[in-house]
Amino acid sequence: MHDETLSVHAGNAVDPGTGAIRRPLVMANSYALPADPSELDWSDFSTPLYTRNGGANQGWLEEKLALLETAGERGDVDAVALASGVAAIHALFFTFLRTGDHVVCSDVTYVATRRLLTELLPAKYGITATLVDSSDPEAVRAAIRPTTRLVHVETPANPTTRITDVEAVAAVAHEAGALLSVDATFATPVLQRPLALGADLVVHSLTKYINGHGDAMGGAVIGDRSLTDRIRADAQVDVGGVISPFHAWLIMRGAVTLPLRMRQHCASAQVLAEGLAADPRVAYVAYPGLPSHPQHALAARTMTGFGGMLAFAVRGDSDAQNRFVAALRVITSAVSLGHDESLIVHVAGDGERARSLPEEFRRWGHLRFSVGLEHPDDLVADLDQALTATLGPR
Ligand SMILES: *Cc1c(COP(=O)(O)O)cnc(C)c1O
Repeated sequence: MHDETLSVHAGNAVDPGTGAIRRPLVMANSYALPADPSELDWSDFSTPLYTRNGGANQGWLEEKLALLETAGERGDVDAVALASGVAAIHALFFTFLRTGDHVVCSDVTYVATRRLLTELLPAKYGITATLVDSSDPEAVRAAIRPTTRLVHVETPANPTTRITDVEAVAAVAHEAGALLSVDATFATPVLQRPLALGADLVVHSLTKYINGHGDAMGGAVIGDRSLTDRIRADAQVDVGGVISPFHAWLIMRGAVTLPLRMRQHCASAQVLAEGLAADPRVAYVAYPGLPSHPQHALAARTMTGFGGMLAFAVRGDSDAQNRFVAALRVITSAVSLGHDESLIVHVAGDGERARSLPEEFRRWGHLRFSVGLEHPDDLVADLDQALTATLGPR
């Protein structure tokens, strides 16, 4: 089935209690026990008992996510929904890594991923990580050790939009007997399905495009049920970062329009990226849909769209980037991404976080721009008037 059809119908059904044609919001912590609870298999997640083990809205959202991630051919694939994207990433690391294990990870990722792998997990659990440019499968191969259990990549990467060849990196990971996990938050299942390209596990921050409305937090890990059941047992039930039923309900509602929204995010981002790239007041633009992007051809071959995220800088110092942002009237200065409204965040190029970013990001800093669903002409006009306010007319 097509994405649009799955987004509407997957996980939804007539509610047997009320006859409502939409899944209700079930704000219950506990579910009725059978007459003889001693018969229960407490590790059977399919019978809801307690919302930390599994609940109604959580389960319907997980069904929707697994179907979207597999184009409706769910088979043995399941999803685990948790309280945030970071909770999902932590759950994945916590479940599959133990003391002495080694991870190969992209050197450009969401900041919490980097901190977990380079500071927290090494200090607390003796897990080690090597960060590499994962757009080069040979660099991943060279970083593999006998103790490598996991390769983790983010594609497109936050904030540079660097693209990793999932198929090539999956081959490297599997040759080494390691799992490959892909943080596909920027792509969503609409633009790429990493499981079909050989990844073992996919992570999404549901907070971003999948919810899409900036009003709920969630995260998910999706993969073969034999893997997701381990995440449920170890990291959901016994670490406990579960998603609330209300947030699961909101995200399920937001996800209905995901393919429609992604189409517009991609179309608008392409227009804005091309416009910015042609503007002499702009220092650089990173967007996979531009032929100047280092992995443009790979993105074109392995994704069905280039996404709604771009990064750029105006020709000026850090103060000029701030003045540009302050002059914007439609585009909001805020973190997060994938919302209906356009969001921009200025990150200076000299911090610790900037060290592994490309040269132009370090020289100029960057403006991470999540292109929203406003009319693209209004966004073009907003960027132009803010550039004029900062640097004068074109
Ligand atoms: C935002 C983000 C996360 C973290 O998600 P939260 O829901 O904020 O915890 C992880 N990965 C990527 C690529 C992100 O953009």
